[in-house]
Amino acid sequence: MFLFVLGSFVIACSAKVGAFPQPGESLRAEAFTVEAGGKGLNLAVGARRLGMAVDGLFAVGDDLFGGLAEQALSGAGLSPTMIRRCTGQTGAGIGFTDRGGENCLAVFPGANRQLSADHVRAAAGLSRATLVLAQFEVDDAPIVEAFALARAAGVRTLLNPSPFRPLPAGLLAHTDILVLNAVEAMQMARSLRPVLDTGAAVNTASAATALAQAFLALGPDLVVVTLGAHGAVACRQGTEPLHQPAFPVVTVDTLGAGDAFTAGLATGLAEGRSLKECLERAAACGAIVAGRIGVSEALPTTAELERFLDRPAAGRQN
Ligand code: ADP
Repeated sequence: MFLFVLGSFVIACSAKVGAFPQPGESLRAEAFTVEAGGKGLNLAVGARRLGMAVDGLFAVGDDLFGGLAEQALSGAGLSPTMIRRCTGQTGAGIGFTDRGGENCLAVFPGANRQLSADHVRAAAGLSRATLVLAQFEVDDAPIVEAFALARAAGVRTLLNPSPFRPLPAGLLAHTDILVLNAVEAMQMARSLRPVLDTGAAVNTASAATALAQAFLALGPDLVVVTLGAHGAVACRQGTEPLHQPAFPVVTVDTLGAGDAFTAGLATGLAEGRSLKECLERAAACGAIVAGRIGVSEALPTTAELERFLDRPAAGRQN
């Protein structure tokens, strides 16, 4: 049983500030972290911490940051054989987190854009995986190829279309599980216009459920929309929608909450847990990361997750 994760690898620089800098302003940061990240690596590390075996592909450049990839993967218990060294720059990002835990960031994809359909075709592990995962920090071509190969091999696929761009033709038909946040759900509805876009904000469980049900009709058999501190909704073919409330925690830094949630969900599903249990574990992973600074270091281990779930609600802070 293992997950196959399709990129991405990004060296993430993050500064904690009292308030976001205004245009032209320089200010003193309260904390600064540099860590290996990227949505793909976060998913891989998140799942590995939860005890899942992980294979995959990560494209890095031939620069200074690319040299950190091997150490980052090995340190997380992931095999460096997943790394594909390309010519050029490694993906890198820079972000700010304010005192309220809100964040803004910019990511330069670098070598992640060089991950290709050829890399995917040459990856022997994909067709033996339990679940293939992709997000949108890599290009369409390798995702389309990976999901087509997975479908042909009877392997389930999970797509997290983040950061959002309109989906390439046919991808949704090869997607079994779609996981997206409220903003992405709205962007997706808009891109499918005029079929789905109601113009209304997706900020309630009922609005998110309506969209999730509409997405279900386009191919996936499970659609999960996350709503930050309002939790998540899940719609599955032939069953009643589920609403998973968020676990109340003191929010320190919401960066990576979605990746932690998806890693928790994917791991739970691969382990054969019920959807209700998977959602609860996923929400706990998201809450734990929201209650800690950073992403990679904040992703919980199985022991931390179990401890969090066992704790009375009032004591749930990490
Ligand atoms: P993204 O990081 O992709 O924007 P969300 O912000 O929707 O995703 O967060 C994903 C999940 O993480 C939520 O569904 C929720 O379960 C959990 N989560 C996020 N923010 C918080 C928070 N402030 N408190 C508790 N749980 C949170």
